[in-house]
Amino acid sequence: MSVLEARAAVARHGLLTAVREVSLAVAKGEVLAVVGANGAGKTTLFRALAGVHPLSSGAVWLDGEDVTGLPAHMRLRRGIAMSPEGRRLFPDMTVRENLMIAGENGRKGAWTLDRVLVAFPQLVPLTGSLATHLSGGQRQAVAIARALMSNPKLLLLDEVSLGLSPAAIEGLYANLAALRAERDLAIILVEQDLDRAVSFSDRLICMLEGRIALEGRSSDLSRAAITEAYFGLTSPGEH
Ligand code: ATP
Repeated sequence: MSVLEARAAVARHGLLTAVREVSLAVAKGEVLAVVGANGAGKTTLFRALAGVHPLSSGAVWLDGEDVTGLPAHMRLRRGIAMSPEGRRLFPDMTVRENLMIAGENGRKGAWTLDRVLVAFPQLVPLTGSLATHLSGGQRQAVAIARALMSNPKLLLLDEVSLGLSPAAIEGLYANLAALRAERDLAIILVEQDLDRAVSFSDRLICMLEGRIALEGRSSDLSRAAITEAYFGLTSPGEH
């Protein structure tokens, strides 16, 4: 069974429809990558799945339950955690405090501070540091670790690599690869680096102007098909 399902989800910003009848599903242990050009609707879709942005129509189901009417904090308690683009940590709190607060607001489960620090060993020497003093890569690691502290069933990762050095990106993806190997979580991630999106995911969706232009098993999709869907050079039926 799918952990998360979106059914014909529509989300708007005023008169602009940013997400147009998007349906998707992700199962436990599966990684779904979402790619698409700037403005394709990826962030709005994520925010709608997390309950931060309202759906105009359609539905979001978590573990066989309709959560469409639930606000973000209730979805978090049911198991949807988002690590947003921009990372939004509490800057004047320490890494430990940022993590502990997240633990209090989520579900109870196997993810504790100790386990999160095993998954993100680079944070061990930083637990007493204020979030404001961290590098971009360290902040991103805390943001993902914080999402894990809520013991999610589904982890939404928006633009993990954004603005980070190649070394920081490698480090974070090593952390994520270890997480993925546990096959316990469903993960949906937005990743601008197409090669990385393909290699790190089981399935891939390419969005174009709010719609899904292409979807399939990542290993089955050619680079050419993804690039064409990305730039809107083909109709969805052609692949
Ligand atoms: P990016 O990679 O640039 O973040 P994206 O694929 O995540 O792009 P969204 O940020 O979801 O796309 O934007 C989808 C559409 O909604 C775009 O046309 C964008 O201009 C518009 N949009 C996004 N946020 C707002 C907002 N707060 N108010 C009005 N329009 C918005």
